[in-house]
Amino acid sequence: MDAGGRCVMKMDHHCPWINTCVGHFNHGHFTAFLASAVGGCCVSSIILISWVANVLSLKPLPFPPPPVYTLILVVFSIGLSIGVVLAVGMLLYFQMLAIIRNRTEIEDWILEKSRYRRDDTDTKYVHPYSKGWHFNISQVLTWDCIPVGDGITWPVIDGCNQYTLTREQLAQKLDKRKRARRYRIIKATSGSKFPIGHGFGVFFHPLCTDEPRIKLDIDDIVVVTRWKKYWLFGEKEQKDGENTKRVRGWLPRPCAVEYIKLKNVCDLQTRKIIYSIPICVHITFFLYIFTLKRRLRHICHVIYT
Ligand SMILES: [Zn+2]
Repeated sequence: MDAGGRCVMKMDHHCPWINTCVGHFNHGHFTAFLASAVGGCCVSSIILISWVANVLSLKPLPFPPPPVYTLILVVFSIGLSIGVVLAVGMLLYFQMLAIIRNRTEIEDWILEKSRYRRDDTDTKYVHPYSKGWHFNISQVLTWDCIPVGDGITWPVIDGCNQYTLTREQLAQKLDKRKRARRYRIIKATSGSKFPIGHGFGVFFHPLCTDEPRIKLDIDDIVVVTRWKKYWLFGEKEQKDGENTKRVRGWLPRPCAVEYIKLKNVCDLQTRKIIYSIPICVHITFFLYIFTLKRRLRHICHVIYT
C-alpha cells in the first residue's frame, strides 16, 4: 500500500521525482529512465569538459573566444552533470541489484526482519522469487519495457508457493503486536518534525523519515511498536465509541510514559520488599563500621593505660 492509499503491485518505492510509485508495471520504464539520465549526463559531461579544455588551451580556436560568463555557466553545467551521473547512477545501481536479486526494497525489509526473527533458530527464510540472475532480469527488463506476467501470480522456486512471503509477513506483524507496549501521553505533542519544548535531545535528533509525526493530547494512549532514543512510533488507541481514521506515527519520547497496570497489590508489596533489601544491607554495614571504630578505640584505651 502506497502512502497515498493506493495498492501497487510488487511495489518497490514511492519516487517523488516522478511523483508515483515504482512497481510491477513501470519497473522496466523506471530503470530505462534512470539509465538514459545517467547516459545522457555522461555524454554531456564529456562534451562540455572537452569544450572547456579546448577554450583554456593556448591553441588557436576555430571559433571566436566565448565571454567569461559562458565559461562560468558551462563549468556550472559540468558540475550538475557529474552530480546527476553520481546520484542517479547510485540509484540505477541499486535498481539493477534489486532486479538481479528479484527483490523489491520492501521485500528487503521483510528479509532483514526474517533474519532477525530467526536469530536463535536454525530455520531460514528463503526468498521465493529469485530463480537465478538471468531469469530475474528477463522478468523486468524487456525490449518494450512491458514486464512479464500479470503482477498477481509469480514463478517461485521449489519448496515455496504463492503465499510464502505473505505468511512470513503476517508472522512478523503478529510478532510486532506481541512486542507492542502501551504508553500514556503526559505532555501534548504538536506533530511537528522539529518539535520545540521537549528538550535538546529531541530537537537535535530529528528523524530522517517521511513517516508522519502525530499530534496527541494529554492522557491519550499510544500502542508503541518501535523505539528510538528520542522518538517512539505507535498508533493512538481509539477511545470507546470513537471511530475515526487511524492515527499512526512518531512522537517525541519524553512526551510519553509506559503505562503499566499492576496485576494486584501483592505485586507492588513484593517490589517494595525487593527494593528495601539493598538499603537494609547498607544500614547494617554502616552500623558495623561505627561500632568497630568504637570497639577499636576501647581496645587502644585499654592498651595505653
Ligand atoms: Zn506512491
